[in-house]
Amino acid sequence: MAKLVDIRILQREYLLAISRALTAELDLHDVLRIILQSAVELVSGRAGLIALHDAKTDSLRVAAVYGIPVHLVDHFAPLLRDLPTERDSIEQEVELTRRLQKIARDAEMGLTQMVRLPMVSGDQAVGVVYVFLAGSAYYVPQDVNLLLRSFAEQAAIAVKNARLYQQVNQEKQRLDAIIEQSADGVMILDAASRITVFNRALSQMMGRPAAAVIGRQHDEVFQWHSLKTPMDLKKALANGWPLPGAAHLYVEGDVQRPYADDDQSADGNRISLGVTYAPLMDSDGRMTDIIANVRDLTRYREEESLQKTFISVVSHELKTPVSIIKGYAGTLRRQDAHWSPEVVDDSLTVIEEEADNLNDLIDSLLEVSRLQAGTFNLEVSDDVFLPEVAANVTRKFRSQAKNHQFVLKFDEAFPLVVGDERRLTQVLNNLVGNAIKYSPDGGDIIISGAVHPQHVTISVQDRGIGIPEHQHHRIFLKFSRLDNALSRKTEGTGLGLFLSKAIIEAHQGRIWFHNNPDGPGTTFTFSLPKD
Ligand code: ADP
Repeated sequence: MAKLVDIRILQREYLLAISRALTAELDLHDVLRIILQSAVELVSGRAGLIALHDAKTDSLRVAAVYGIPVHLVDHFAPLLRDLPTERDSIEQEVELTRRLQKIARDAEMGLTQMVRLPMVSGDQAVGVVYVFLAGSAYYVPQDVNLLLRSFAEQAAIAVKNARLYQQVNQEKQRLDAIIEQSADGVMILDAASRITVFNRALSQMMGRPAAAVIGRQHDEVFQWHSLKTPMDLKKALANGWPLPGAAHLYVEGDVQRPYADDDQSADGNRISLGVTYAPLMDSDGRMTDIIANVRDLTRYREEESLQKTFISVVSHELKTPVSIIKGYAGTLRRQDAHWSPEVVDDSLTVIEEEADNLNDLIDSLLEVSRLQAGTFNLEVSDDVFLPEVAANVTRKFRSQAKNHQFVLKFDEAFPLVVGDERRLTQVLNNLVGNAIKYSPDGGDIIISGAVHPQHVTISVQDRGIGIPEHQHHRIFLKFSRLDNALSRKTEGTGLGLFLSKAIIEAHQGRIWFHNNPDGPGTTFTFSLPKD
């Protein structure tokens, strides 16, 4: 019996075991079991049970048992039910004795006596510890009782810590999920500028999986190709950033995405980034982490450069016909010259053609602005006969393209399609016009039409300069002209294919191209649904 053993030695041993368990970051149930075992052994008891209060269901649930075989645990359920209020201690005592007697009968463990120790944290009841004794009843001495109460207190502390830990853990998981799911790129660096967090948006932006950059130095991953702001993070840190109370650091520039053979998504292009670095300080004013918010500014930069291109292309394309018209008109008006009817006729033809060019350009610009304003509507009829449209287009171009031979190859019984004839003509005009412009050495231009079960396709094949592989994604963009000698020499706005794509997509069709497999040149193809 514990009363016979030196209680102080036991006390020291048990408290040591409990405090070890508390600091060893064990599972809460392990800690509770150690406390329970100590309590039961202290009074040479038979068994013990700890029940915790579940705030959600407002009831007690068994959290640890000691000395109770699993199949008998259910018999202890009466101890989990509500008791008469604590204040009415006699009534409570009577009720508890009644319950213990029932359990003793049901469980047949020879239990004769029970100590009940409420677990309280602050002013909150977190649970209860029961210690059961067998054999003849004895009076639990005051010092043993005090020690048992301190065990119950320890158990309450362990529960409180575990709940706090769980809360912190949940909060951390929530924060991790927010960072991971953020649409902006987010990265966290440690005090030595090593990457510790790299979220999904950022890894997509940079074309690198998080696993490939975590633990690496920031400067290894963010190698600026060019900077728009005065300094990058490295330089700022060398200059003493962050100063106490200092604002965030903003760095903007271009970085190169990696070329990776095994990763198709990493296409190796250059992207423009804006990065805001915010220092995280500890209470001593030392920087512990840097949180960086990364934005992809590539689209914005592209738009900016498109605007510039737009102004230069359009002003050039508008000015050329205007100056030609003005030149011819001025010449014809000269009082001192008498022009033959042929010269007058040729000059007026030029004026007319240039006025048409101007008109086409203005029409294209209006179409683009309608597209942007969302007021682009088709004027649809159900009897567009594409072989005829193609024949008209080639007739128009025949006089200007002396080096080229036009070949029309349409499947038999080519059906009428539903569409906007004027705009489909515009698409073919553009494709055939490009085929001529970008095949300066001439050659066949084959316009073919094929009938498929659900749709028809029209292709325009040339034997020209082709389109380099890496430019494929740009070709249908607004104002995009490929950077080759021919594009620089030939007139054009880079609007043709952009508008063609918009027109075909408005017809529920698709447009694409490939370089010819059997020789030079390109084939552009579009599809249209067959009703
Ligand atoms: P534009 O011809 O007015 O420049 P487009 O939008 O029609 O504008 O074409 C965009 C760019 O695509 C052209 O500048 C040219 O570099 C390229 N391109 C279009 N069609 C062809 C083709 N058939 N062969 C080679 N390059 C082409």
